Amino acid sequence: MIDVLIDVLVIGGGPAGSAAALRLAAMGCSVMLVERSLFPRPHVGESLSPGVWVHFETLGIARRIERAGFRRSFDTLLRWVGETRRVQAGRPSLIVDRARFDALMLDATRASVEIAQPVFVEQASVRDDCWHVRLSDGRTVGARFLVDASGRTNFSRRARRFTAPRLVAWHARWRTGHPPAETLVERRGDRWLWGTTLPDGTFSAMTFGGDSVPMFGTLRDSTLFSWLAHIDPIEPPRASDATPYVCESPIDDRSSAVGEAAFAIDPISSSGVQAALGSGIVAAVAINTILNRTENRQAAIDFYSSHVARASAQHGMWAAESYGGGHEAEGLPDVDDEAILSANADAHVIVPTIRDHFIELAPAIRTASGNDVAFLGGTPLPPIVASIRPRTPARHLIEQWSSAMGRDRAAAVLSWLVKHRAVLQERN
Ligand SMILES: Cc1cc2nc3c(=O)[nH]c(=O)nc-3n(C[C@H](O)[C@H](O)[C@H](O)COP(=O)(O)OP(=O)(O)OC[C@H]3O[C@@H](n4cnc5c(N)ncnc54)[C@H](O)[C@@H]3O)c2cc1C
Repeated sequence: MIDVLIDVLVIGGGPAGSAAALRLAAMGCSVMLVERSLFPRPHVGESLSPGVWVHFETLGIARRIERAGFRRSFDTLLRWVGETRRVQAGRPSLIVDRARFDALMLDATRASVEIAQPVFVEQASVRDDCWHVRLSDGRTVGARFLVDASGRTNFSRRARRFTAPRLVAWHARWRTGHPPAETLVERRGDRWLWGTTLPDGTFSAMTFGGDSVPMFGTLRDSTLFSWLAHIDPIEPPRASDATPYVCESPIDDRSSAVGEAAFAIDPISSSGVQAALGSGIVAAVAINTILNRTENRQAAIDFYSSHVARASAQHGMWAAESYGGGHEAEGLPDVDDEAILSANADAHVIVPTIRDHFIELAPAIRTASGNDVAFLGGTPLPPIVASIRPRTPARHLIEQWSSAMGRDRAAAVLSWLVKHRAVLQERN
């Protein structure tokens, strides 16, 4: 017997589960979220990359997060290759206490989502086109769609492929008289260390390596962290697996995985929460399409599957660059005013795209690296590329586009199209 009948059941109340639940509820789906732990509960991953703010805006929780008074970190002391240098970020990282941050996010869902906590799923099976899910509080929930947001736990047992060698993290916190204002990052041979002061004034540090060499040896041998080796941490260091992986099949027409249930990235970028929020937001649009626009079901599955594959591959590439010492991002090429240009016919593709709260098929431009881009900073690319006549001088295109977007922007859009080979330079 079913006690509650809903559209979507979300399993796990971390950042990805909260984000997916919030968006699905905003799109009109009835949603229940099941979280097995009582919040606030501790979690690693306290440094949030600046890109989280776009997601907070999408979720409508940016003001709430601002009011929470978390710490902003602009400065990093980085000892990666050679000397220690101070790196100043244009946009700061947000340093949070994850217990509070995750609780705050879950709280934000309560107005539109039913939360069952601390509750876990005892059994889930599909009958008559509907999930029958037995919860540990004795209720049976009927749901049209199941979202696995259980993190590394992998509730739905989806197959995962490791995308980098094994990585083990040791983590502890210290109470110190004078915690550093900067975030500290250091590389020691094949291991690296990270540390920052949390909003409550305690210092959180992690050591990363391919095996579980205990934390204190790594701290003692370091330059920036050796002072910690002489102070007792608040609790003994704990090890956790931090190996990146990707789930090859993150969605089907009845269920999907979001956040670290779908893919995990190397912690070197401090972007795991940003990636988890992004996947929850994109999955919500795909799920809304699967449930309410069945004709675009396959496009929705393809869209979210390639979101996961692309995010995992891009982060893998950035991590490899960081371990290699990092390099300056390549700028846009200068395109000579007299260059003769033609559109690359092969760059036009019809692909699944987000429009409002649904996925639908729409034109886009495929870049040389295989990314499909429909808009560049608000400029729709397919129509402007389609309007390019063969063998047109660059200055004509810039003049033509200037009236709609201004000369500087027109030149920048053209450089971008040339860089990504959507527009080809002809030989004279
Ligand atoms: C060592 C390390 C350091 C990291 N550092 C950073 C960092 O500095 N910055 C950053 O952005 N990211 C970092 N990350 C990654 C970041 O922590 C994760 O990307 C993020 O927490 C993923 O969010 P999630 O919602 O997918 O999963 P989680 O945050 O893990 O949430 C999953 C939730 O599901 C619940 N759950 C599990 N199973 C069940 C079940 N059967 N029933 C009900 N509930 C269940 C759990 O209790 C949990 O609350 C780090 C990761 C590691 C391993």
